[in-house]
Amino acid sequence: MLVQILGAADCVTGSRHFVRGADGATVLLDCGLFQGWKPLRERNWLPLGIAPHSLDAVILSHAHLDHSGWLPALVREGYRGRIWCSPATRDLAEVLLLDSAHLQEEDARRANRGGWTRHLPARPLYTRRDAIRAIELMRPITPLKAFSPAAGLTARLTPAGHLLGACSVTLRDRLHTLVYSGDIGRSDDLLMRPPQTVADAPDLLLVESTYGDRLHDAPDEPARLGEIVRRTIDRGGSVLMPTFAVGRAQMLMLVLQRLKRSGELPAGLPIYLDSPMAQAATRIHLAHPRLMRLSQAELRTLCDGVTAVEDAADSRRLARRKGAAVILSSSGMATGGRVLTYLAAMAPEPRHSIVFPGYQVAGSRGGRLVDGAREIKVMGQIVPVRAEVHHLRGLSGHADANGLVAWMRQLPAPPRQVLVVHGEPSSSDALRLRIERELGWPARVPRPGESVALAVADTTGD
Ligand SMILES: [Zn+2]
Repeated sequence: MLVQILGAADCVTGSRHFVRGADGATVLLDCGLFQGWKPLRERNWLPLGIAPHSLDAVILSHAHLDHSGWLPALVREGYRGRIWCSPATRDLAEVLLLDSAHLQEEDARRANRGGWTRHLPARPLYTRRDAIRAIELMRPITPLKAFSPAAGLTARLTPAGHLLGACSVTLRDRLHTLVYSGDIGRSDDLLMRPPQTVADAPDLLLVESTYGDRLHDAPDEPARLGEIVRRTIDRGGSVLMPTFAVGRAQMLMLVLQRLKRSGELPAGLPIYLDSPMAQAATRIHLAHPRLMRLSQAELRTLCDGVTAVEDAADSRRLARRKGAAVILSSSGMATGGRVLTYLAAMAPEPRHSIVFPGYQVAGSRGGRLVDGAREIKVMGQIVPVRAEVHHLRGLSGHADANGLVAWMRQLPAPPRQVLVVHGEPSSSDALRLRIERELGWPARVPRPGESVALAVADTTGD
């Protein structure tokens, strides 16, 4: 078996791992978009490094775009095989890939209008049509069931928490077993079940390291949110929460319903969900109830008192409305989308609060706000910031370093080799050290593009 790390080697995005089995069959594990700083994003325009039409199969760990978002480009470049994933991953990937294609098309249109592109006319990284063709190649497969993605290879998905449908992937040829963690969730996630034990003993382990150098300190974020909302509505204001539409928005709805039920928030407090993508993602969550750790009663009441805002004119009216409310809107870093309408109207008013419930990239509009910016530019206008601004950092969907080590400990046998991927260099290296010291396993942080071949003798059985 040969493994080549094509992305997520020195960063947390662009997950793409190429595997060639002992009999020559080839599989790509994940096909993610590079995101964040411009030098990273520019990698999306480079070729994959493997001819797409020569690949036999793709296996997708989960729907987040840093794992799935390059699939439409792969298909445009000639890939025609199947894309194996869990049923919930397929459903969420449809929503996320179509939205991503829409944003790529918008970017190209804006560049052409503004005339600031070096390539005239600017073309999108991929189109909606490319995304639809990628979705058509998806083959949902029930987790824990073995399947054969290509001749001479067997595979199995194991639920990993983290996001609806997210799984680790086991891939086996006639000599070796590879386990790829995907993204590992936390055992105390509010919405998702804890990661399940992987039953396969790997010769080679590919493990993510997003939080490889950090521990989640445990502030009670739901209680903190309750206090902020209470204080805000007591002074006649509303709370705006810029949120990621998939996963995070549903977790926040759950938290708000619990706060209402316990009496910490008024039962009649209106909640608005203003994001067509979050509404679609909520329907998908409710269609896969067993993947979440919600009681029947919580599932039934998740959307009680939640008003879905349908069109942009309603957003503008709601942004100017008097009276207490909680408004969930995307995008999560306030880089675009309907949340900007609310930000422009609410940021100048001291009675309101703006609460960021997710990670904020430095330099994004959300990043500047949580760093204390007193004014921001929204839709071409300078807007003063007089509302309270808060950042809830403790709601991450990733296992911390202890969680990652605990997940590795439950493997049925020690791997021969560990490759630490999907982390900033300092996080990956910190996790590598812990793996060597605490587990006694040989671990390395691979360079981008590096290949690792397992020799015939490298099996856990000998
Ligand atoms: Zn993820």
